[in-house]
Amino acid sequence: MVKKISNLREKLQSLVKTYKNAYMQGAVADYIPALAEVNPKMLGVCVATIDGKITGAGDYQQPFSIQSISKIFALVMAMERLGDSLWQRVNMEPSGQPFNSIIQLEWEKGIPRNPVINAGALLVSDVLTSHFCASKLAFLTFLRSLADSDAIKIDNHVYQSELSHGNRNAALAYLMKSFGNIESEIPDLLSHYFTQCSIKMSCQQLAQSLLFLANKGVNPRSNKLICSPKDTHRINAILSTSGMYDQSGEFAFSVGLPAKSGVGGGVVAIVPNYGVICSWSPPLNKFGNSVAGVNLVADIAQELGLSIYH
Ligand code: GLN
Repeated sequence: MVKKISNLREKLQSLVKTYKNAYMQGAVADYIPALAEVNPKMLGVCVATIDGKITGAGDYQQPFSIQSISKIFALVMAMERLGDSLWQRVNMEPSGQPFNSIIQLEWEKGIPRNPVINAGALLVSDVLTSHFCASKLAFLTFLRSLADSDAIKIDNHVYQSELSHGNRNAALAYLMKSFGNIESEIPDLLSHYFTQCSIKMSCQQLAQSLLFLANKGVNPRSNKLICSPKDTHRINAILSTSGMYDQSGEFAFSVGLPAKSGVGGGVVAIVPNYGVICSWSPPLNKFGNSVAGVNLVADIAQELGLSIYH
């Protein structure tokens, strides 16, 4: 049962104050040089509910690099295109490895553990690249329609930076191709993947765009079915077990919500039948998850009694 609190805005404002200095406990991702240029003190949080309320504090309207949060939207599109046959090419198990690990992919013959680690997301990018004639445009159009905003853009500086420092992602893709699990040309799928990671959105836009996952697949703002209730269940299950990478177990243990992070410092958490929380603070912990972002979501979930395991 979600606890009703009348002063959510004040609560969020006070949490933003509490975590004002938490950025010092983490480090901004620097393996993509453009991400290291972001101000580490940025901090925002937004709660969007399926009944249409938006409540935010701090820098919640400031667009940032969504990075791996894009993996959720890409997965929705790939599930819609391939149906159940997608699950012959990618698994749905936690990896127990860092998000960009390569070692497990060889043992498991080019079948990624799940679609929200890098190997799995590259596989999903292959599906989109080979099933859409203009996959990048289709992806951007999908996000713009979910967020109801044509202002959503690709950050070309981040894109170029990812492209020129993308050797590990290229290695993952080539390894999968050597096992026959990739159809498109690797430069094409990498270009798609880096484009989706380089999109900029605010906490508010992300929270609003993901409301369908809290509402059995229906976007409550447009009433449109974005994905079936069965696929909504599957995505939330994967986010619960793998969305926070190698910290997913601890996150489930202490917070209890399907969630996804990105190395841009964003964290989204889905609260079924209630709404979406999105937080943003660029400095990351050793798992690649935002230090303050995780704390903000944890405190809100605790305060409102949002865990799905109650
Ligand atoms: N673009 C980043 C990468 O591929 C995304 C990783 C992330 O956000 N965890 O390395």
